[in-house]
Amino acid sequence: MAKIGINIATGSIQKEDAIVGIDLGTTNSLVAIVRSDTREAIALKEIDGLSLVPSIVFFDENNQAQVGTAALDKLLTHPERTIYSAKRLMGKSYGDLSQDSHFFAYKIHDDGSDALVKVQIDDQFYSPIELSALILKELKSRAEHILKMPINRAVITVPAYFNDTQRQATRDAGKLAGLDVLRIVNEPTAASLAYGIGLDPKEEKTIAVYDLGGGTFDISILKINQGIFEVLSTNGDTYLGGDDLDRALVMHWKMQLEQAGITGNSSTLLQALRLAAEAAKKQLSTSDKASAVIEGIPLEITKTEFESLIQPLLDRTLQSCQQALHDAQLTAAQIDAVIMVGGSTRVPAVKNCVRDFFKKEVNDSLNPDEVVALGAAIQADILAGNNTDMLLLDITPLSLGIETLGGLMDVLIPRNAKIPNKAGRQYTTSKDGQSSLLINVYQGERDQVAHNRKLASFSLRNIPAMPAGLPKIDIQFLLDADGILKVSATELRSGVAQEIEVKAQYGLDDSMVEQMLLDSLTHAQEDMQTRALIEATTEANLMIETTEKFLINYAALISDSEQALTKTQIEKIKQAIQDKHKDAIQKTTEQLNEVTRPFAERVMDSALKDAMRGKKIL
Ligand code: AMP
Repeated sequence: MAKIGINIATGSIQKEDAIVGIDLGTTNSLVAIVRSDTREAIALKEIDGLSLVPSIVFFDENNQAQVGTAALDKLLTHPERTIYSAKRLMGKSYGDLSQDSHFFAYKIHDDGSDALVKVQIDDQFYSPIELSALILKELKSRAEHILKMPINRAVITVPAYFNDTQRQATRDAGKLAGLDVLRIVNEPTAASLAYGIGLDPKEEKTIAVYDLGGGTFDISILKINQGIFEVLSTNGDTYLGGDDLDRALVMHWKMQLEQAGITGNSSTLLQALRLAAEAAKKQLSTSDKASAVIEGIPLEITKTEFESLIQPLLDRTLQSCQQALHDAQLTAAQIDAVIMVGGSTRVPAVKNCVRDFFKKEVNDSLNPDEVVALGAAIQADILAGNNTDMLLLDITPLSLGIETLGGLMDVLIPRNAKIPNKAGRQYTTSKDGQSSLLINVYQGERDQVAHNRKLASFSLRNIPAMPAGLPKIDIQFLLDADGILKVSATELRSGVAQEIEVKAQYGLDDSMVEQMLLDSLTHAQEDMQTRALIEATTEANLMIETTEKFLINYAALISDSEQALTKTQIEKIKQAIQDKHKDAIQKTTEQLNEVTRPFAERVMDSALKDAMRGKKIL
């Protein structure tokens, strides 16, 4: 296994093997590196010369996965077993996707809860994290094959608008694929780095990144100052891309076919038209005319005709640009550089309309399919410490967090975060009248604190008696430039406060950090399962506690049969907890909700009426 070396003093990674940059895209993904000899960023290509790997996973009858080009044909032959656009599912619940479900030809499992979505194939369920991990694994092994060395570390890009859950999901996917994800970088930031914008710490610039891919459109406005990229605004359309340009031409040609007497909507005809339209569109990027023959009928399109067909779509992208500028409180004239990303920006009309909108030449000299991965590779190279001209901000080598219910690690400052850094979060008590809270501070990457390193422990005392859940305990982590961590806890309702100082890296040498990182990789899958089990158990225990209290407090208003039914259900949950069966715990806990709902509503109504009559409840 390759060695992971981290310099504790600087937080920088020591160079022992290549760190790759990965663009994990909705339609295609690819890997890039900075060549050690020429210092040039290049996309990795197989002998076939292709750098793009379709972000598609096919599962055969034995649930064996095929990824990338091998899965591409299966989109037509086995649509229900072939997963595309898994990125659109990352960190999403079924509720989040209800508007978009028509887009997916495969089955998205809806368990009616707010839980994260899963894809169902036969009786197997796959999370978007697992699906993305399969794509990342394919990219990893492809890169290992091309570079002939093991690849264990990567920088992965995500859209600028991805929230914390989606970023964490991407990180987890990397972990599952056996990759140490050194950093998650915004796609527009990577594109900017690929053009060398933002590499000079003295540079101050405001840029626009226009990204029109196969199925999505994003516009991001970034401000770069002292090597720090700040996203000022993002806008776009998650269902607008090259596919829509193809569709415009398909509709046009379909009308011509109908005039020639060829009608019908057979999937073979539509598929043939779609492929011909995409080929013609690509041809029109370099010539003035394109043609095709469908069912014996010759079809033609000129560049001018095509441009008027797609104008409404281009106008939509410009409206998004206008909105993004408005949100950033800027005018087009205040944008210093415009960067083009995504295969569809090869269409000359796209470049022209963007240039006219921003009134300046666009950056389009790099391959628009590769530019994000190239930037990720440059970021990886900087993290590897190879680019000595670049000011590298100190980063913390291991995550810092506190223990929460069930012995889980709650990370406040993630590993690789810049130093100095500050983070805070609010917690509460789990017991009625709890007067003190023990705060355990840990360092490490594992989900359970037991596997991490304890840095400090202190108690917040004299919390005034309040029901569980009411105190607001604000915990702040302050990591100063010397790597000293100050942890403070304040109960906000009463003002009770405590503070402690910890030397975060005290006593840890490089090899120990290395071991902790390797452990977190080796145990990723098992850790995720354990975390899910602990979370389900904690939630179930809280629910049991609340319900038992409710049964006692409102005994007079609950019938014997309701009491009995509830107690039986509680026993079922306890059994599931004892069996350590996560799905059963979740299911029986949900059932408890169902069992208690009718009388809980009745009791609350009646208690409310009593209260309104001026009586004391209980
Ligand atoms: P991406 O998602 O960035 O890989 O973009 C893929 C999209 O770019 C697809 O809709 C392709 O049809 C489109 N594309 C690729 N090459 C060209 C080209 N030469 N001219 C126009 N569109 C292209």
